[in-house]
Amino acid sequence: MTAVASGSAPTAGVLALQGGVAEHARVLEGLGARVVLVRREENLVGPDGPRLDALVLPGGESSTQDRLLRLLDLFEPLRSAIADGLPVLGTCAGLILLAREVLDPAPGQGSLELLDVAVRRNAFGAQLVSAEAQFAADAAGVEGLGEGGAVRGALIRAPEISALGPGARTVVTHEGHVLGATSIDPDAAVDPGSAAPLGRVTGISFHPELSDDPAFHRALLAQAR
Ligand code: GLN
Repeated sequence: MTAVASGSAPTAGVLALQGGVAEHARVLEGLGARVVLVRREENLVGPDGPRLDALVLPGGESSTQDRLLRLLDLFEPLRSAIADGLPVLGTCAGLILLAREVLDPAPGQGSLELLDVAVRRNAFGAQLVSAEAQFAADAAGVEGLGEGGAVRGALIRAPEISALGPGARTVVTHEGHVLGATSIDPDAAVDPGSAAPLGRVTGISFHPELSDDPAFHRALLAQAR
């Protein structure tokens, strides 16, 4: 697959159906990306091929986002774009959308099933006010992520990653809970003891875009194709 913008600023999409879109756009622009708000299939792919180098799925309400994706005929195009190699970062509801399994879905809720994890919704941060509850979590084993191994974020009715399959590895933990995972390429040799780049598909429970910590967005753009 050819790069969309080789040699120039990467083009980063933010799924813009519902949720915290503007905050992600701001962080990505701050890192020098050109931002596209994704609302239609044409934002993902055009007659000349893929239009994005990377994509963020923002927080919000995953069941609403899932419903809107299906209503707008965007669910399958989004799934194929990511399955075809578009690097993606999902935060909070975005992590839920990416998960292989949602343990307590809203009625009728599905997911893209692109990250080999099971998630439990609403595990942390019962109220919106928990946006103020900033925390530092341990980021392990990811190249270029977090100074001293810490990332900052906010938990807002956040999901917990309750199980990982063989296709994913943990990248963020906090007080014994898994708050972030990334995909393991079937042919990538990941040495558990050493840092490796993020996989193509990454999901985190928290909101670094509300905590002035661009480490995950930077790591996403670093793998822009
Ligand atoms: N609780 C929300 C959900 O189930 C996620 C919250 C968030 O994205 N901040 O989708």
